[in-house]
Parts: sequence; structure tokens; C-alpha cells
Amino acid sequence: MTPFGTSVTDLPFLFEPHHDRVAAVASEVARGWVVDEADTAQRTREAAALLASAGLLGWCVPRGFGGKAPDRLDVRALTLVREALGQADGLLDTAFAMQGLGSYPITLAGTEAQRARYLPGILDGSRLGAFALTEPEAGSDVASMRCRATRDGDGWRLDGAKTFISNAGVAGQYVVFAQTDPEARSRGVAAFVVEPDDAGLSVEPFEVIAPHPIGALRFDGVRLPADRLLAPPGEGFKLAMTTLDAFRNTVAGAALGLARRALTESLARATARVQFGQPIIEQQQIATYLADGATELDAARLLVYRGAWARDTREDRVSSEVAMGKLFATEAAQRIIDRAVQIHGGLGVTRGVPVERLYREIRALRIYEGTSEIQRVIIAAGLKRAAR
Ligand SMILES: Cc1cc2nc3c(=O)[nH]c(=O)nc-3n(C[C@H](O)[C@H](O)[C@H](O)COP(=O)(O)OP(=O)(O)OC[C@H]3O[C@@H](n4cnc5c(N)ncnc54)[C@H](O)[C@@H]3O)c2cc1C
Repeated sequence: MTPFGTSVTDLPFLFEPHHDRVAAVASEVARGWVVDEADTAQRTREAAALLASAGLLGWCVPRGFGGKAPDRLDVRALTLVREALGQADGLLDTAFAMQGLGSYPITLAGTEAQRARYLPGILDGSRLGAFALTEPEAGSDVASMRCRATRDGDGWRLDGAKTFISNAGVAGQYVVFAQTDPEARSRGVAAFVVEPDDAGLSVEPFEVIAPHPIGALRFDGVRLPADRLLAPPGEGFKLAMTTLDAFRNTVAGAALGLARRALTESLARATARVQFGQPIIEQQQIATYLADGATELDAARLLVYRGAWARDTREDRVSSEVAMGKLFATEAAQRIIDRAVQIHGGLGVTRGVPVERLYREIRALRIYEGTSEIQRVIIAAGLKRAAR
């Protein structure tokens, strides 16, 4: 038992009996994982293989294809896994998340043949997934995407660019959203599966502040046969949003894991480090940092697992609940980790020290799968609907 509790035992009213076991398996994997920032691509492949061997990728694939997930996914299970993995390493967490995000559109909209071709590799970790929505000129405003899909005989032709695509360069399949009618905005979006050796696809990897396989994609007349169409024009945007709706809550789970690790490191340091003749935890300001952090972590957990429970059990729209969890947990985790660096003093900004890595890892979680500002837009839209 950690001083900061475990989510399933602390919030039993939000979970089902199997969730305890899911969290335990993920925690065991996290404990055995060694962080190594040297080769992001290779470590991502190793992470996927480890997650597969532990059976955790089963939560990304439906039962009919050898997985463990129900048709609408088990968001509490996914969130618990990310909370556990996030405590160990952001890269391990990303490897898990991308197997889900990069395959759920296929689970939802794929034909039987598409599911049979792409899902087994997701499950055994041999095919890494990718979800390609963001473009250089279309970030938060996804519907303004310019990547163009045009009919080409029986099939399709893709031209344009995507950027900030996780797993670019290591993925075995890319779910790509493209515009068939620029005037129609969201109503013109279709979705396709692109494979890495499709002619006309080029990948330019780049680095972000923490280890994360990521890059830009270019499509120069990529010809796709008809069986690569995942969602017809008009259905692609909804498919992207439904996928993000399911996975947004799990980003908050990863934030909980990063925050919990920061608090654990902070408590250990604050009790061991002696200044002015006593451990620094005896200094009221440092004790307050820890007390505030523990309180914010618990508040975040309540919101995040409320969102996951709502997504798993309710049929109505739960976008506001999920957005609140993502907004609060990622922002709280940033504050907790910042204080953790402060508690560590100079050691906190030294390369290789866990809180230094956490400081780099947390930042992107406030940006991807909808920035904090966009979460507020979603919450406010819910309030406006309720006031009508
Ligand atoms: C590490 C990482 C991994 C990623 N992985 C993927 C991936 O796998 N697939 C993928 O498709 N994308 C991915 N992304 C892209 C990510 O989803 C976008 O970065 C995000 O949606 C924001 O878009 P943007 O970067 O273009 O910022 P912009 O949309 O340009 O936003 C810039 C600023 O303006 C604010 N803003 C914009 N619109 C509004 C508004 N209406 N109201 C208030 N504020 C607003 C934003 O909140 C932000 O602060 C990833 C990004 C990162 C950093």
C-alpha cells in the first residue's frame, strides 16, 4: 500500500470486481520496467511486446478478436492501466495508449476483413497503431483539415500532410482522417487505413521534450484500394470524435500516474533530506506542498474515475464529465510535479532524476487529445445545453 492509496480500493463504488486484478497486473508490469531514454523507437516496440505478454493489450481489442474488451471498451480498465504505467514511464504508457487509439476506429467501423487483418497484430504487439488526425493547419479546429481524399477508380487517392502523429515511423498501420469535400467541413471527412509501405507515404520523425515516438506524415498521391476505406465521407469525423471520447479519460489516468509518482518521490526526499538540522518535511512550507498535492491527487482521482464510470455505464452523453476529469487531472498533475521539482531543489532539475523526467513528461498531456482550453469549451457547451 502506498501512502497515496490505490484507486480501486479507495473508490470501490466506481469499480467492478475484475478491475482490481487489471490494476494489479499493470502495476506489476510497471514495477519491472526499466526507463531508458536512448532509443525511443526500439523501446516502444519492446514496451508493446511486454504489454502483450502481460495480457494488457487485450483491453484494447474486443473479445471476438481474442481481446478482453467489450464492444464499447472498458474505460475504467484502460484508465487504471494508464495510471499504473504512467507511474513508471511515459513511453510505456504511450505504447499502451496508442494500441488502443490506433485500433479503436477499426473496432468500431471496420469490416470483418479489416478487423481480422489489423486487430491480431495490435493484440500481440507486432503491429503498432497510429491515429492521424492533426494537421499543420488543423489542430484544435480539426474540421478544417486539408488532407484530401479523392476517388480514384474503385479506390481512393490521398494527398496532404499530418503532424504530431504518435508512433509515426514505428506504426504498422495508420488510421488516417481525410477530407473529401472541403466545403462540407466535418460532414466531408472520411477515414482510411494506410500501411507503412504504401507508395507515396513518407514519414519525418521529430523529437518532443520527453521520449515519445512522433512525427509528420506526407501523402503524395497515395493510392488506396477500396478495402482500405474505414468510414465513408460524412462518417469519419464522428468516428474520430467517438474514439477520442473513449480515450480522453485515459489520458487523465496517465496524469494520475505521473502525479502519484511525483508525490511518492517528494515524500521520500522530504523525509530524507536534512537542512537546518531536520528533514525538510518539518518545514511547514514543504509539508504544505505535500498536503496540497495529496489532496489534489485524490480530487483528481474522484473526477477521473467518475468520468470513466459514467462512460462505461451510461448511455447518454458524458463529454462534460470526461472533459472535467482530463482538465483537472492534467492541470493538477502539472502543479504536483512542479512542486516535486521544488522539493528536490537542484537535484530536481538534474537529468535522470525521476521528477526531472516527470516534469518533461506531463507537459504534453495538457495539449494532446484536446487542450485544456478545449476541455473548457466542451464543459461550457454542456452548461449551455443544460440551460436551454
Ligand atoms: C506529444 C503529442 C502527441 C500527439 N499525438 C497525436 C496523435 O497521435 N494523433 C493526432 O492526430 N494528434 C496528435 N497530437 C496533436 C494534438 O492533438 C494537438 O497538438 C492538439 O489538438 C492541439 O492542436 P495544436 O497543437 O495545433 O494547437 P492549436 O490548435 O494551434 O492551439 C494553440 C493554442 O490555442 C488554443 N485554442 C485553440 N482553439 C481554441 C478555442 N476554440 N478556445 C480556446 N483556446 C483555443 C489551444 O488551447 C492552445 O492553447 C499530439 C500532440 C502532442 C504534443
